[in-house]
Amino acid sequence: MSTTCNCPNIGNCDKADNKDPINVPEGADLVCPDCGAQLVAAQRPPKRVPLIWISVAAAILVIALGFVFWPKRNTNGDTNRESVESSLKEVWPWLKATQ
Ligand SMILES: [Zn+2]
Repeated sequence: MSTTCNCPNIGNCDKADNKDPINVPEGADLVCPDCGAQLVAAQRPPKRVPLIWISVAAAILVIALGFVFWPKRNTNGDTNRESVESSLKEVWPWLKATQ
């Protein structure tokens, strides 16, 4: 793990002028390799989770829930089909009678 720093020596250091991020390895001195100035830890922009990842996570969650409930839904589908068939048989004479 390295620390990302900026050189504060603006005007005297190219890295400071360009706002180049300087990666300092863990445990190393926080000094600019160009001018030797004491580095300041870079302000990291707050991480925002892109909307696309939220939608992807939601889609994965829905799929996962679908898999969890799939066997249950399958048996329900079978019983539904049976009940539809039996109710159709019950209605069938009535359907025939109306024609
Ligand atoms: Zn510097």
